[in-house]
Amino acid sequence: MSYPTQSAQPVREPFPSLMNAGGRTLGEEEIEGVTRVIRSGMLNAVWGTEVRALEEEMARLHGVRYAVAVSSGTAALHVAVAAVAPDPGDEIITSPISDFGTVGPILAQNAVPVFADVDPLTGNLDPDRVAELIGPRTRAILPVHLFGAPAAMTRLRAVADRYGIAVIEDCAQAWLARYPDGRLVGTGGAIGCFSLQQWKHITCGDGGLAITDSAELARRMRLFSDKGWPRDTGRHHVSFGLNYRMSELCGAVARAQLAKLPGVLAARRAAAARLLAAVGELPGVHLARDVEAHAWWLLPLVLRPPLDSAAFARALVRAGIPARAGYLDEPLHCAPALTGAPVYGESRYPLTSGYGPGLCPVAEELVANGLVVIDWNERYTDRHVDAIAAAIVDAHRETS
Ligand SMILES: *Cc1c(COP(=O)(O)O)cnc(C)c1O
Repeated sequence: MSYPTQSAQPVREPFPSLMNAGGRTLGEEEIEGVTRVIRSGMLNAVWGTEVRALEEEMARLHGVRYAVAVSSGTAALHVAVAAVAPDPGDEIITSPISDFGTVGPILAQNAVPVFADVDPLTGNLDPDRVAELIGPRTRAILPVHLFGAPAAMTRLRAVADRYGIAVIEDCAQAWLARYPDGRLVGTGGAIGCFSLQQWKHITCGDGGLAITDSAELARRMRLFSDKGWPRDTGRHHVSFGLNYRMSELCGAVARAQLAKLPGVLAARRAAAARLLAAVGELPGVHLARDVEAHAWWLLPLVLRPPLDSAAFARALVRAGIPARAGYLDEPLHCAPALTGAPVYGESRYPLTSGYGPGLCPVAEELVANGLVVIDWNERYTDRHVDAIAAAIVDAHRETS
């Protein structure tokens, strides 16, 4: 290990962050939207106009027929899982590197999350591992486009189609990411789910959207988000549902944010292109290279031994860079919520199979040693990007 060089001095200019106004695109348009809703006196989407307009705008942006707005990304995934209608004990194959919002909805429907191992360079579901896990009770595949990198949809879709099961895409981190054929993520499976939570590309505080081309899936998702109440035929409840409705206040903010989304992606991609050019090729460091396909929610680095994510992230943090090793403390199949705690009351129903270390070795290695994530933001200036690039090069030299 060598001593830090001049370029590794802490960056004085603070990095814009999703957690404050300096790193968000919230402005007059959102204020105007909230004001419009409050002046109207109607804050609820059942009778309001903003959330319905948001759904139309979301569907149009993605070239799909339907969008259903709900109260969170987790709620979007829950209405999607409910719509594909697993029976209790049915299995849904998903990724061990994600937010718990990917898994909670599966448990909530009394289905069983089955974790497939991931690609060692992207952390996205490995279609070969998914294919091995298909069984008589598999009801759906739920890939996550991790950090904004599109999952291998063509191959995942081929597996799903072979067995006649649905694909639900978790696009919470991947707004406007593109598959290799240029289409937007969220349009390659039965349902695509998005989040509007504070940490995401665009936000209304908390919110979610689910998109689909299927009238039947859209109907089921809307019913599930509104107490199973069809609204157009009196007060009766045709199916089990909860209240996952988005409020008009959130809808108005989300509409203004959605209009800014292409600009957010353009800025994040331009910054990523600059970063990649500045860093170049570093032995043992994998960086995503397809600037226009990726949504650049975070900037992920995957390190090969002897490089180690903890030491590398420490070096970045010393240089003032908002970086972390691992992304999660442990992959989801090792989370105490699945390895130990009861799911309901004292019961672990419907979980039968074991979870814990050894199930997904590639994911475990990535989270323990391979993965470093750096916060990314549409408000980064060239100076921010150059400081991050210099710090990556220095961290590489220091820890090689
Ligand atoms: C954020 C996130 C979710 C959950 O979204 P919320 O809006 O926080 O409920 C689900 N999956 C992934 C991959 C996420 O990043």
